[in-house]
Amino acid sequence: KAFEDERYDYIFKLVVVGDSGVGKSSLVNQFCHESFTFDLKSTIGVEFNVKTVEVNGKIIKSQLWDTAGQERYRSVAASYYRGALGAVLVFDVTYTKSFLNLPFWIDEVKRYCADAKILLVGNKTDLKDLRGVTHADAFEFAAANNLMYVESSAKDNGSVGYAFKKLLGEVQSDRE
Ligand code: GDP
Ligand code: MG
Repeated sequence: KAFEDERYDYIFKLVVVGDSGVGKSSLVNQFCHESFTFDLKSTIGVEFNVKTVEVNGKIIKSQLWDTAGQERYRSVAASYYRGALGAVLVFDVTYTKSFLNLPFWIDEVKRYCADAKILLVGNKTDLKDLRGVTHADAFEFAAANNLMYVESSAKDNGSVGYAFKKLLGEVQSDRE
């Protein structure tokens, strides 16, 4: 029976990108393991996580690729992006610079996986008093760049599953 649990309709590779410190690994950790810690340890290279969810009645196995620190040097390898069908592009709503750097990440995703669906995620919404980027500004930027937009808190698990499922649903609807 064990292998029954391994059944899925689709397997999709997603990459998680954005400036260092915005909460990429925390979002992946929350989505895949339902947990949050302020000192998530990071390894060198790339981390893989898998999570199987049901979206629109289909069982989707997602392979999440998370950079482990190299985004700090703006040098994420081309192989990281290869075959990705979706990208979770994260910025920190309390850190304006991570918002202003979004065009760099959009260019990267478009260069290496031109057809990937991109979901923009404004993370750390639990830090309301520290907010530097308004919902309106982010929403407008997303619309101007043809991106879907969701706000999340990896800490409070606000909209984390919703965000990943929204992107997976978007990728899946292309394949029907
Ligand atoms: P990464 O470099 O993009 O992978 O970011 P991390 O996931 O390592 O997170 C960077 C820091 O921000 C860590 O101290 C996290 O605990 C913290 N963090 C991540 N997401 C949130 C969030 O939604 N709210 C708050 N308050 N802190 C967060
Ligand atoms: Mg990380």
